[in-house]
Amino acid sequence: MIKPLLRLLVAVHDVTPAHARRLEVLYHLLDELGVRRYALLVVPNWHGSWPLVEYPDFVAQLRERAANGVEILLHGWRHDEVGLPRSLAHRLRTFGRTDREGEFASLTPVEAAARIARGLAALRGAGLEPLGFVPPAWLAGPTLPRVVREEGLTFTEDAHAVVALNGQGQRIAAPATCWSTRRSWRAAGSVVVASLRLRLERARPLVRVALHPPDADVPAVLASCRRTLVALLERRRLTTYRELLLEERSRVAAR
Ligand SMILES: [Zn+2]
Repeated sequence: MIKPLLRLLVAVHDVTPAHARRLEVLYHLLDELGVRRYALLVVPNWHGSWPLVEYPDFVAQLRERAANGVEILLHGWRHDEVGLPRSLAHRLRTFGRTDREGEFASLTPVEAAARIARGLAALRGAGLEPLGFVPPAWLAGPTLPRVVREEGLTFTEDAHAVVALNGQGQRIAAPATCWSTRRSWRAAGSVVVASLRLRLERARPLVRVALHPPDADVPAVLASCRRTLVALLERRRLTTYRELLLEERSRVAAR
């Protein structure tokens, strides 16, 4: 039997000048481990106070990384929920998943489309061409894939899968490991979960690792990020969203 190819997709979430110092720590970790292919999930106006256009040096660095093969994804408009109504349904949907950082969790399709269009314009204005859209905290309504496709992007994703939008919205299963740093007990829990997942997901064809800037602030979490990546890189080949989508397209065409 041919052994299935095991792959790893690495992404850095919440890329914004607000987190510039923490991002440097994460980039350094990736460089040190030889991870050159990864995705950056860029937020055009973090919390409404960090518009990319005011940080030309930060943006120039993103363009340089993109020119060296790093993929750019759009990750919300402002990322948080400020200014949005928080209905009971919304609170239930986001409970325990995010601390009011689910910008897209309860938007109507029209509102979601408007924010994505605005975000795309901001990134393109900065010389960045995003491939896909990832909603903050991976939270969005069921119409999001259609909205993202209509905005001309090729994929979106949730916590369980990457959703290719060039065909019928094929789901490419890919569990995502990420760490929590909001409370110390959560941080400790996420370190334990990350090491369990290494074993549980050993045979999964594709796994994702999602790094967040606050991971850089908690030594135990940063050490766990490093251990997890080292262990995954021993057995898995790094892939990119572009590569995954191409493979998915040829797989669908061959059917
Ligand atoms: Zn995020």
